[in-house]
Amino acid sequence: MDNSTLSFCKKLPKLELHAHLNGSISDKTLLELSQTLDNKGTNYDNIKQFIMGCKDRSLEECFKMFSLIHSMTVSASIIRKVTKDVIEDFAGDGVVYLELRSTPRQVEGSMTKNEYMDAIIESIRESKELYPIIVKLIVSIDRKSGVTEAEENLELAIQAKEANPDIVLGIDFSGNPAIGEIDDFIPVLQCAQKSGFSLAIHCAEVPCELETKKILQLNPERLGHATCIHPDAGGSDELWKTLIESKIPVELCLTSNVKTSTVKDYRNHHFDHLYKIGHPIVLGTDDKGVFSTSLSDEYCIAAKTFELDNDQLWQLSYDSINYAFASEYEKEKLQKILKDWKQNITGNSKID
Ligand code: 5GP
Repeated sequence: MDNSTLSFCKKLPKLELHAHLNGSISDKTLLELSQTLDNKGTNYDNIKQFIMGCKDRSLEECFKMFSLIHSMTVSASIIRKVTKDVIEDFAGDGVVYLELRSTPRQVEGSMTKNEYMDAIIESIRESKELYPIIVKLIVSIDRKSGVTEAEENLELAIQAKEANPDIVLGIDFSGNPAIGEIDDFIPVLQCAQKSGFSLAIHCAEVPCELETKKILQLNPERLGHATCIHPDAGGSDELWKTLIESKIPVELCLTSNVKTSTVKDYRNHHFDHLYKIGHPIVLGTDDKGVFSTSLSDEYCIAAKTFELDNDQLWQLSYDSINYAFASEYEKEKLQKILKDWKQNITGNSKID
């Protein structure tokens, strides 16, 4: 990879809008945790194999990896630590605004869902004093866990938002796309919309035209991946047209899609189609720990694969401010950060 582009991407102030907490934990943090847990007689060997092992896994294998990571993030104090570490990693990578998403989880005898949520929110609050980054929380609904859990998580999210309206902003719908019927979840997602949440919905990770149409009809604020919509990727002309006309911003995670083989290679990534026609897009890491990537790497891969120059990379980051769930005040602050940064490196007197 061209060193000067990578160095530019690292310094560029960036927005991360698609990051799952447990998938974003670094190898370093996981090793530290596994050593602590090993002292208590837990499965250190499994974890070590995972961390040292090959990082190219199918989508199904990734979901097994999440279960393994979940077996380590089992108490409120661990959740506080991993959240802090993940925020520190992103801040160190030049991310100035982060929307972290996570699925409320309880561990029998160790942590309730409320404690899980509180731990993340506390860490986010503490990070304000520590790092130059704005952090928000999106509460995830895991389709694998069924509708009752989805309703429970929405209720938790409503309570958390009431107590922390500056932090809890959105609802994410994610989990193994091979499991669960979208029809069962639509009422919960509509209820989330009525409760004032912005929606970020994982969409078309595997080909399923009917489900994708129903998600588009919901008119969420953002879509995750939107992989199998273009006719080249198993979608239809009609579905593609519906996406483009909807103008719904798409969160694109290049490395995640290539490593899980939902996209053949970087060159064939639907970034190309969407970017060329000016559809709103934002680059994200998805699971920077699981896929060994960073947001700077993702910008650099996009630059190299689709021949983007530094101005285009800056614009990509600047435009993504529009798709954040942040307040208008925070968006203006982010615009200023990006403009000032550009002005500094180019020496231009004013950037409009
Ligand atoms: P957590 O919600 O536990 O913080 O983060 C891990 C969870 O995020 C996984 O168990 C899964 O539900 C969701 N997730 C992470 N990456 C992906 C992805 O690429 N696609 C989908 N559909 N879900 C994901």
